[in-house]
This record gives sequence, structure tokens and C-alpha cells, in this order.
Amino acid sequence: MKRGRMVYEGKAKRLFEVEQPDVFLVEFKNDATALNGEKKGQIEHKGELNNHISTAFFHVLENAGIATHFVETVSDTEMLVKKVEIIALEVVTRNIAAGSLAKRLGLEEGTVLSRPVVEFYYKNDALGDPLINRSHALAMGFATRIEIDYLEDQALKINQILREFLLARDLTLVDFKLEFGRLNTGELVLADEISPDTCRLWDVYSQEKLDKDRFRRDLGGVTEAYQEIWRRVGGTNA
Ligand code: UDP
Repeated sequence: MKRGRMVYEGKAKRLFEVEQPDVFLVEFKNDATALNGEKKGQIEHKGELNNHISTAFFHVLENAGIATHFVETVSDTEMLVKKVEIIALEVVTRNIAAGSLAKRLGLEEGTVLSRPVVEFYYKNDALGDPLINRSHALAMGFATRIEIDYLEDQALKINQILREFLLARDLTLVDFKLEFGRLNTGELVLADEISPDTCRLWDVYSQEKLDKDRFRRDLGGVTEAYQEIWRRVGGTNA
């Protein structure tokens, strides 16, 4: 597909204009960052793996009635998505305590939460994506009260759908981050990506980490972990 002007380059993806006016082309890169950009590196084959894994998740969600920005996958590392204005919120849903939640609340990593937790972070690199509450999100004008309720509701629905899909593939969905965007009609849709960069995924039996924590924590076998996720989610049942 012919790429037009590059409109944005992020840490893991590039966004290009294409001929269709209401669509962007997303290219997934091998670049990886962690610890708020302090740790930088490359994960071999990550671009193609995350493109394929995200595609599989978007298909599962669309089939379950969730509105997303996904249009189609056009190459190993590229997908077409609907143009949206990204909302400046990262919506994190957690089933098991890990990472920043384990640290903040003094919970042992792996503690099962009695119910899923939804958190909002202000998407702002310079501030290190701070945790905010609904009242902050309203006061900052990121979304209306109805939209914030909708985001939380969608996050919980998506959690339910992905948890079941992953469990059937012997994977525990520990936590994950979503981003949403506004179409020019005003409708909110799921955007960005869903991949081992943005989810914590553990093998059900061995608890082995099969996600970006292998990169963040220098555990080795990063590409192999992403390949294993693709093998499990991209199988004939996907
Ligand atoms: N996450 C993400 N992008 C971010 C921060 C977090 O995709 O900028 C994901 C992360 O992969 C994990 C979940 O959101 O699945 C919760 O991350 P956490 O708050 O525990 O932060 P971390 O420990 O990664 O700093």
C-alpha cells in the first residue's frame, strides 16, 4: 500500500496518511522503550508479531460487538485504522496485582484481585503518565461523565472477552492498557494496539511471563515470548 505523509511517530508505531481520507496506515516497529523512556532497545520481529497479535485481538473484539478503529491488516507490519482523535487517557484494567499497582498498594505480585480494577492515567510523557481519578479527567476536559462511564464499561467488557479468549489458550490476562479515540462522528472507539507490549500475559500453569516484562526486567527470551503469544492467539481457533 502506498504511504503518504508521516503524521506521527511514537515509541512503537508510525502513522501515515494513505489515499483514503478517513483512514491512517499504522506501521509497527521493533523499537521498545520502558521505564518512562529511560530504557530503550529493539525486540527482534516485534513489529510483525504485534501487528498480527493486535489484528487477532481486534477480530475477537469486533466479533463480540466492540467498536474499534481496526480496518484491515495490509502487510506483515502494517494495518489500516480509522482516523480518530486519541483521548489523552490510558485505561488500565487489572485482574491480578503486578507492576505499579503491586508497588503502590504493597501487594505481592500475583495477588488475585477480588474484582477487576479500572484505572485512568493521563497520557503525558513529560509527566510520566500520572495516575488520575475520574474527577481529574472531568476537570481536565478529557471526556464527559457519560464518556468516562462508557470507557470504564468498555474496559470491563473487553476484559471479560479477552480473559475468556486467552484462558482457552492457557494464558492469564493479568492486566492491560487500552486507548480510545473519537471518530469525526463523535463516537468513541477502541484504538491503539493490544499486544504483549500493552498486556501482562502469564502462562496459566508455569506463571511464566510472556510479555514486555521480559524486556523491562531483563529476563531474556523476549522475542520467543511474543512468538509464543502469536502461536497461541493466532492458531486456527483465533
Ligand atoms: N502499560 C502500557 N503502557 C504504559 C504503561 C502501562 O501499555 O505506558 C500496560 C503494561 O504493559 C501493563 C499495564 O499497562 O500491562 C499496567 O502497567 P503498570 O501500571 O503496572 O506499569 P508498569 O509496571 O509497566 O510501569
